[in-house]
Amino acid sequence: MKAGFTTTILHSDLESPIEHNAMHKPMHPAVAFGYPDAGDLVKVFQGLQPGYAYGRQGVPTTGALESKITKMEDGIGTVSFGTGMAAIGSTFTSLLRAGDHVVSSLFLFGNTNSVFGTLEGFGVEVTYVDATDAAAVEAALKPNTRMVFVETIANPRTQIADLLGIGELCHARGLLYVVDNTMTSPYLFRPKMVGASLVINSLTKHINGHGNALGGAVTDTGLFDWEKYPNILDAYKSAKPAMRGLTQIRKKGLRDMGASLSAENAHRIAIGAETLALRQTRSSDNALQLARLFAAHPKVSAVYYPGLENHPQHARAKSLFRSFGSLLSIELIDGIDPVKFLNELDLVVSSTHLGDNRTLAIPVATTIYFEMGAARRAQMGIADGLVRLSIGIEDPEDLLRDFNNALDAV
Ligand SMILES: *Cc1c(COP(=O)(O)O)cnc(C)c1O
Repeated sequence: MKAGFTTTILHSDLESPIEHNAMHKPMHPAVAFGYPDAGDLVKVFQGLQPGYAYGRQGVPTTGALESKITKMEDGIGTVSFGTGMAAIGSTFTSLLRAGDHVVSSLFLFGNTNSVFGTLEGFGVEVTYVDATDAAAVEAALKPNTRMVFVETIANPRTQIADLLGIGELCHARGLLYVVDNTMTSPYLFRPKMVGASLVINSLTKHINGHGNALGGAVTDTGLFDWEKYPNILDAYKSAKPAMRGLTQIRKKGLRDMGASLSAENAHRIAIGAETLALRQTRSSDNALQLARLFAAHPKVSAVYYPGLENHPQHARAKSLFRSFGSLLSIELIDGIDPVKFLNELDLVVSSTHLGDNRTLAIPVATTIYFEMGAARRAQMGIADGLVRLSIGIEDPEDLLRDFNNALDAV
C-alpha cells in the first residue's frame, strides 16, 4: 500500500473506470454472466482469463471489496464469504484432511471452537495450547501438524497470542499459519508483519462496523510456499503456485459449500470500511478511558484490557498494535449480579456482537460460552460473572457517565 490506509480504501474503486463516472463500484446482484464468445466463457471456467461465471463464486461487487481487503492486509488476494464463520469453516475444510493435526490457541471465539469439534468428528486432530507463549505451540507440534491457528486479541479475556514467536516457528517448520485478525482488524495490526500465511477477518465486526451486514474474508499474504503443502488437489496445481491456496479455498470452500457474500452486503461493508480507521481510533480511545475508570472502581474486581499496564501482554500489544482495541472485559466484586448491572445501564445495549459503533455488553458464561460447559470455560479463564464490553464510538463522557451511574446503582 503506497498511500495511507484510509486514502487507499477511498480510492480503490476509482482505479478502474466506472460507468457514468460513479464514485462507487456499482452493486451487481447478477447471478449469471453471459459471454458473446463462448470461448471466453470456457477460459473463465478454466481460470485462463479473469471474469465472472456464476454468482456463487463471486460478483464484481464482492471482487471490488476483496481487492480493498487485499490492500488493507497487504496481501496477494482475498476470498470473501457470507459470514466470518463461513470464511473460517471453509478455510479449514478446504485445506485440512483426515489424519492432519492442527495446533490452535486455547483462547478462541466460541463458534471457532465448535467448528474444531466438528472437524475432530471427521478425523482432524486438534491440540489446544496457551498460545501466549510460542514454546507451548512448539511443544504441541507433531509430524502431521499442518496448521497453526490463533486469534490476535482473544475474546473475551483479551489474551494476546505470541504472534511474532509463532510466526517465526511456523516459518522455520514450513507450517501454515492462520491468524484471525477480527479483533484488531488490518487497521490496528497486519498479521503479515509476523509471518502469517492466511489472515481471516469477520467483516461483520470492525470493518463494516454498522451492524447491518454479515461478511467474512480470507486473505493470502503471499508468504507461504503452497508448493510444499500436501493437500492441494491436482485440479488446482495448474494455478500459479502463490494462488493455489486461495484457488482451493474459493473452489472447495466458497463454490462447493456456497456461503457466498451478497452484492448488497459487500457494498455495505465497503462503505463501512471507508471509516474504519476513524471509528477504531475513537473506540480504542473510549475503551482505554473506560478501562481506567473500571481499574480504579471499588466495585470492579478485575479488568482485562491490553491497554492497561498490568495486562500480561501489554508490552506485546504496544509493540504490535496501533492501539489497544475496543474489547474489554470486567468482573464485578462478589455479590453483584452482572445481569442487574447491565439492566442499570441506560445507553449501553445488552447485546452480543463486537466492533459495532454502539457500545454493547453481555454476560458471557451464561450466553456465548454457555454451550461449551464449565470445565472448558475455566480453562479459558472465563469466570461466571465475566461481562464483555465492546466499546463503540459514542461521546466518551456519555459512556463514562452511564457506567458510573450503573456501578453506583448496584
Ligand atoms: C465474530 C467473530 C467471528 C465470526 O464472524 P461472523 O461474521 O459473526 O460469522 C470469528 N472470529 C472472531 C474473533 C469473531 O469475533
